[in-house]
Amino acid sequence: MNASEIIEIESRHAAGVYGKQPIIFVRGQGALLFDIDGVEYLDCASGHGVANLGHAHPKVVEAIYKQASTLITLFETFPNDQRAALMKKITALVPGLDRVFFCNSGTEAVEAALKFTRISMGRKNVAAAMRAFHGRTFGALSATFNRKYRDGFEPLVPGFSHVPYNNIEALEKAITTETAAFILEVVQGEGGVYIADAAYLQAARRICDARGALLIVDEIQSGFGRTGKLFAVQHFGLTPDLLCCAKSLAGGVPMGAVLIGPAVKNLTPGAHGSTFGGNPLACAAGVAALTAIEEEDLPRQAAEKGAYLMEKLRQIESPLIREVRGLGLMVGIELKQKAAPYLKALQEKRIIALNAGMTVIRLLPPLVITIEQIDHLVAVLVNVLKVDIAGEKE
Ligand SMILES: *Cc1c(COP(=O)(O)O)cnc(C)c1O
Repeated sequence: MNASEIIEIESRHAAGVYGKQPIIFVRGQGALLFDIDGVEYLDCASGHGVANLGHAHPKVVEAIYKQASTLITLFETFPNDQRAALMKKITALVPGLDRVFFCNSGTEAVEAALKFTRISMGRKNVAAAMRAFHGRTFGALSATFNRKYRDGFEPLVPGFSHVPYNNIEALEKAITTETAAFILEVVQGEGGVYIADAAYLQAARRICDARGALLIVDEIQSGFGRTGKLFAVQHFGLTPDLLCCAKSLAGGVPMGAVLIGPAVKNLTPGAHGSTFGGNPLACAAGVAALTAIEEEDLPRQAAEKGAYLMEKLRQIESPLIREVRGLGLMVGIELKQKAAPYLKALQEKRIIALNAGMTVIRLLPPLVITIEQIDHLVAVLVNVLKVDIAGEKE
């Protein structure tokens, strides 16, 4: 198939829920993506934070290859060597969270966590944060704030409310003895790369404990080294009752997980489940990914490279930049105008980046990005942010 055939087929047959870009990627290596003509792009999106280990990581590739020829599928009622290995590894990551539920995506992890809190507490209400993004299935969508994801899909799940982020007073009022859970992102990704205050997170833990509510942290985007620690909660010494992860968990193979603390009760056989959850193929990829993250000390790499990148970004003198903020390699450049024309300009210069809301350029490069590649990214950004492309339509 040539390029125009591929584009024609996708525009004719895709459901229509994605705005398609005009580039056909066929291969990846480290922080690079290659299009159908072999043209090289620097990936600063990582598939929304999936490719933390870079593309085609040899350890992950080998594990998938080996497990695919051994056993791909097995329902979780039957124990399995790869699943047990991943359970052992993943429950050792956060002290206190020593049970795990496996699923296949981020939204499923949130969905499971929400169900677990309701059945555990016998309460219905869930508080979430303004600007939060937790996924697109009905429970996760009910916890998601932005109308652009919700409109047209009502009625959503009853019992959900939204409180301003980083506002302790509002949280004191919102969480009551009827609240099953408070769910939040330690760094809001889709919402615009906003980082929680340490005092807010401590208050969230204290208020949940005082009212008998559970605390769910969504680390689907911020997890597995992205922010400079294995999980963003570790910057703040925060232990949630449930921690949702997915995205980079299995090195790019679809997988989600909920890590579960001792306050979560009533998880009995049949209470929840997933056909593909905990399948040996994804688990083998997960073991390989977690091993590689450890061996290559990716959290430290993200911390160092993120600090370097943000220092360089803060030196850019452009009247278009309102603020540079981030944690590790989860970085936002807030502009005084729409980000979309600048993302397009970056793409023309062969850099793939993301937006976060209307005005934020979001950078989520693979954590294996090199310093030379970061320098190149900054040089291109300097150039692109010289020109005021206001007024251009998205
Ligand atoms: C991506 C994301 C989700 C949803 O994950 P899917 O795998 O797309 O369902 C949920 N929460 C956060 C914070 C995310 O970044």
